[in-house]
Amino acid sequence: MTGIMDGKAFAAELRGRVATAVSHLESSHGLIPGLAVVLVGEDPASEVYVRNKGKQTVEVGMASFEHRLSDQTTERELLVLIDQLNSDPTVHGILVQLPLPAQINSHAVINAIDPDKDVDGFHLINVGRLTTGESGLVPCTPLGCMMLLRAYAGDLSGQNAVIVGRSNIVGKPMAALLLAAHCTVTVAHSRTKDLTDVCRQADILIAAVGRAEMIQGDWIKPGATVIDVGINRIDGENGKKRLVGDVEFASASAVAGAITPVPGGVGPMTIACLLRNTVQAACAVNGIDFTLE
Ligand code: NDP
Repeated sequence: MTGIMDGKAFAAELRGRVATAVSHLESSHGLIPGLAVVLVGEDPASEVYVRNKGKQTVEVGMASFEHRLSDQTTERELLVLIDQLNSDPTVHGILVQLPLPAQINSHAVINAIDPDKDVDGFHLINVGRLTTGESGLVPCTPLGCMMLLRAYAGDLSGQNAVIVGRSNIVGKPMAALLLAAHCTVTVAHSRTKDLTDVCRQADILIAAVGRAEMIQGDWIKPGATVIDVGINRIDGENGKKRLVGDVEFASASAVAGAITPVPGGVGPMTIACLLRNTVQAACAVNGIDFTLE
């Protein structure tokens, strides 16, 4: 029988553990972890993400700092703000909501963040740490996928993992994490030949493509664990939009051993991991031991 990997419940449980850790940090060390989120412009999807991040940050007892800048903001102005946040001791994590307006080079902005406050894990230093196996801040979505995999699939050692998608925020860090967990990793992308056959080899299949329901049930090895990172808005009934993943859930769930739904799978894990990373960053800068897996 297929197991549905309940990311919503897992994320709620993780937020509970983050809240306990935050309360302990305050009572034992007088430390309140703080997360600064920077939003440039008025992209409606980004607005929703930023609001949810702020709300959940406060709910776990951390300090939330929101900086909303106009879509006319220059790169220099944004870099000045990043500089201020880097030197603010009450801010332990900095997240700049992407995408940024066209006049701003997002690489320059991300790499201006203090790597030890880079809770998104996108700074080159953190990419290097992840690739070489040193401890650092790991991108939230792949980190959430790993937590779900460890909880539902147990020991990953020796398993064939196929990731469809090679972006810097999902596919590549996911590959580094699975490799570190001793999987045999294949990263597929838009130029991959015989993608269906490649997917059929997977004991663990990660879909991070951004194409609604592209991966069908007959692409999946019976019993495989399927993680669907995709978030796609498609037309539903009565002219309403509905969310679907990159995997066609109905046919895939008949074949997979375990699968994440969309919504309610990977999505909720991402913000929970952001909160977790902020606690990690606050502990690291204060020399406090940290474990929250
Ligand atoms: P990108 O657009 O940056 O990358 C998509 C990847 O998919 C690319 O590597 C691309 O290949 C590959 N691809 C595109 N079309 C095909 C195809 N037909 N066959 C094989 N590979 C293909 O997307 P992201 O990584 O940013 O996001 C992927 C999905 O995950 C999106 O739906 C996004 O909304 C979702 N997402 C969800 C998050 C969450 O919290 N749940 C967080 C982040 C993303 P190539 O490199 O060759 O172009």
